[in-house]
Amino acid sequence: MNVLFTKLTEAAGVEFLTRGQTEMTLASKLSQERRARLAAERLLEQKQAELQAANRKLGRHAQKLSEEIVETRAQVQTVRDENQRYRSDLSVAQEKVLIAERRLWHSIETIRDGFAFFDQDGVMIGANRAWTGVFDGIEAVRPGITLVEMLQIATEEGIVNIGDEDPARWRARMMARWHEPSPEPVALRLWSDRYVRVIHQRGAGGDVVGLAIDITATVLYERRLRDARARAEAANRAKSAFLANMSHEIRTPMNGVVGMAELLGDTALSEEQKLYVDTIRQSGEALLVIINDVLDYSKIEAEKLVLHPAPFDLERTIHEVVMLLQPAARDKGLDLLVDYDLFLPTRFVGDRGRVRQVLTNLIGNAVKFTPEGHTLVRVVGLPGADGTATHLHVTVEDTGIGIAPDKLPLIFDDFSQVQGSHDRPFEGTGLGLAITQRLIGLMGGQVWVDSEPGVGSAFGFRISLPQAAEETGAPPPEVPEGLRRVLVVDDLEVNLAILTRQMQTLGAEVIRCHSGAEALRRLDGQVDLVLTDHNMPGMDGLELAQAIRDRGDPVPVVMISSNPGPAELDPARRHLAAVLQRPTPRRELFRVLAGVLAPPAPVFATRRAVTPAPPAPPAPEGRRLCLLAAEDNATNRTVFARMLRGAGIDLHFASNGEEAVAMWRDLRPDIVFMDISMPGVDGKEATRRIRAAEGDGDHVPIVAMTAHALDGDRDEILAAGLDHYLTKPMRRAAIHEAIRALRPDGVADPFAASEEMDAAG
Ligand code: ADP
Repeated sequence: MNVLFTKLTEAAGVEFLTRGQTEMTLASKLSQERRARLAAERLLEQKQAELQAANRKLGRHAQKLSEEIVETRAQVQTVRDENQRYRSDLSVAQEKVLIAERRLWHSIETIRDGFAFFDQDGVMIGANRAWTGVFDGIEAVRPGITLVEMLQIATEEGIVNIGDEDPARWRARMMARWHEPSPEPVALRLWSDRYVRVIHQRGAGGDVVGLAIDITATVLYERRLRDARARAEAANRAKSAFLANMSHEIRTPMNGVVGMAELLGDTALSEEQKLYVDTIRQSGEALLVIINDVLDYSKIEAEKLVLHPAPFDLERTIHEVVMLLQPAARDKGLDLLVDYDLFLPTRFVGDRGRVRQVLTNLIGNAVKFTPEGHTLVRVVGLPGADGTATHLHVTVEDTGIGIAPDKLPLIFDDFSQVQGSHDRPFEGTGLGLAITQRLIGLMGGQVWVDSEPGVGSAFGFRISLPQAAEETGAPPPEVPEGLRRVLVVDDLEVNLAILTRQMQTLGAEVIRCHSGAEALRRLDGQVDLVLTDHNMPGMDGLELAQAIRDRGDPVPVVMISSNPGPAELDPARRHLAAVLQRPTPRRELFRVLAGVLAPPAPVFATRRAVTPAPPAPPAPEGRRLCLLAAEDNATNRTVFARMLRGAGIDLHFASNGEEAVAMWRDLRPDIVFMDISMPGVDGKEATRRIRAAEGDGDHVPIVAMTAHALDGDRDEILAAGLDHYLTKPMRRAAIHEAIRALRPDGVADPFAASEEMDAAG
C-alpha cells in the first residue's frame, strides 16, 4: 500500500511527509518564504529606486523642455520683432526707392540730352522727353517700342537726315552697330538741322543705356573753325606768294645796287668815295641776308622748304664758311679754328646749301657775339649701326659774351634776341637760330646750346648723314711716313690742343711749346717737323724759322697762319717748307706733310721746293667766246656787261625772249645767260623754243638768271630745259665761274688775259 500510496501521491504530485519531515519542511518553507519575501522586498526597493531615478530623469527632461519652450518662445518673439522691423524697414525702403526713382526720372527729364534704356532685345523700357521729343511727338515712340520700329519711324518720317544714303541700308547699318559688343558713338543730323551724338552702353544683364547728346554747338563751332582755317591757309599762301614776289621785286633793284657798287669799287676813287661805295655794297649785302632770312622763314612756315640732298664735302663746306667769316674775325683779332676729326670721312649726302646756312648762322653768331678770344668749330662722328649713315656732332664754341640762363630756353624762338632793342650793339633779325633749329629738324637732327655769361657759348647740332658713295670704302687718309717727333708751337692753348691731337692721331710724338723761345730751347736733333703758329708774342713763326736756320738746323718748318698773305712776302718765308692757311682742311694738311716729309735728297732744297712759285699763266689759246645774254632790265644789262669787262668775250644782249630765240639762231653762241621773268616770251618759253629748234643736235648751255628763290621755281626752270641756275643779285665770281665751266673746247679762257693784267697791276 505504501508503495501504491507513494506512487499515487507521486502520480498526483502529492508528497506525503513524515512528521519530522513535515516540521522540517515547514521551517524550511518559512525560511524560504522569508527569503522570498526579502528578495521581493529587495526587488521592490530596487524597482522603487529605479522608479525614482526615472522620475528624476523625467523631471530633468521636463525642466529642459520647459526651458527650451521658454527659449523658443523668446526666439519667436525676437523673430516676430525682427519681422516687424523688416516689414517697416521694407516699406521705408520701398518709399525711398519710389522717391529715388521719382528723383532719378525727374533728373533724367531735366537733362537736355536724350536718355533711354532698352532690354537686350532692343525693346525700349523707358526714355526721357528729350529722347522721345526727337521723334516730334509721334505717339508710337513710347516704352515697349522696339529699336527696329524706332529706326523705321526715323527714316519714314524723315526724323533723321540720312543724306543720299538708302534708308534700308542706313537702318541695317544702325542695327549692325547696335549688335556690336561696344558700339562706337554715332553722330546723326536731325530734320531740324540739329546734331546729336548717340552713345549706347551695354550693361551686364544685356540692358542697353542710350544717350543722345546735342552736339549742334560743337558741330557749328568746328565748321566755323574749318572755315577760319581755310581762310587762314589761303591768307598764308597769299603771304608766301607775296613774300616770294617781294623778294623778287627787291632782289632785282638790289642787283643794280650791289653790282654797281662792286663795279664802282674797282674804279679810281678817293678814300672817302671808296668808303661810301663799300658802305653801299655792304648795306646791300646785309639787306639781302635779311631778305633771305625772311624768305626762308616764310618758306619753312608754309612748309614749302624742301631739302635737296646730294653728295657734298662737309669739311670743305665748313672751311668755306670759315673763310667767308675770316675777315670779320680778323678785324676783331679773333682766332677762327676748325677741329675736324682727322679720320672722319668728309663726303656725305645732304643738302649742302642748308648745312652751309646752319653753319653760317652758328659760326656767324659766334663771331658776332665774341669780342675777344676765339671761336672753334669741332666735328666728331660715329658710324651708324647700318654702316653707312654717320652720326655727326658739330659744335661751335666761342669765348664771347654768353647768354644768361633764363634766356637760354627762349633762344631758338622766332624773333628772339637776348639784348633788348635799345641796348643792342649787334645787328640781326632774331630769325637765324629759329631757322637753324627748323632746318636741323627737317634733317632729322637736334640743336642744343650751352652757355655761361661772360665765359662763352657752345651751340651744337647732331645729324645723321649717309656717306657719299665714293667715300664709302675709300681708304683713310695716308699717314705721312717719317713723322715720328713733331714740335708744335702755339701761344694759344686750344690751337696747341688741336694740333697735338691731330699729330698724335697720325702716330707722332708731340713736343708742345707755348712760344718760339721755348721751341728753341727744346728743339733737339731728333725732331722731324716743326709746326708753328704765325703771330705769337715775343717771337713770331717767321722769326722762329729764321732762328732755327741760324742754328744750322735743317728741320722742316711749316707755319700755320690766319693771314698768310703778308707772310708770303716776308724774306724769312724761304725758311719755311710751307705756309698753311688756318683753319687748314685735312686734305691740305696731309698733302703738305707728305710733301715736306718726302724722302730726303738734298734735304734742304727738296723740302723747300714743296711750294714752288706758281707757273706763269699760259697765253690764251683758241677763238673768242660768244655769249648771248637775255635781260629786259637795262640796269641789269649794264651790270652784266661791266662784270665781263676786259674778258675775251663777244657779248650780245637780247632784251626779251623772242629776240633771244632769234639771236640764238643767227649767232649760235657758246653760252646763253637767260633772265627768267621777261615780258612777253619769258626765259622758260624762250629756252623751250631753243631746245625744240636744236632737236637732237647741238645743245647750247643755258644759264638761268632769276630772282626767284622758291624751290618750285628751280624745278620748273630746270624742267624748261635750262641747264644751270644763278640767283640774283648776280656776283661777278659766280658769272665767271659759270663761264669757265661751260666754255667749250677750242675756245680761249676769256679771263686769262685780264687775270694776268690783275696780277701785273
Ligand atoms: P640774330 O643773330 O639775327 O639776332 P639769332 O636767332 O641768330 O638772331 O640769335 C638770337 C639771339 O641769340 C641773338 O640776338 C643773341 O642775343 C643770342 N645769341 C646767338 N648766338 C649767340 C652767341 N654765340 N653768343 C651769345 N649770344 C648769342
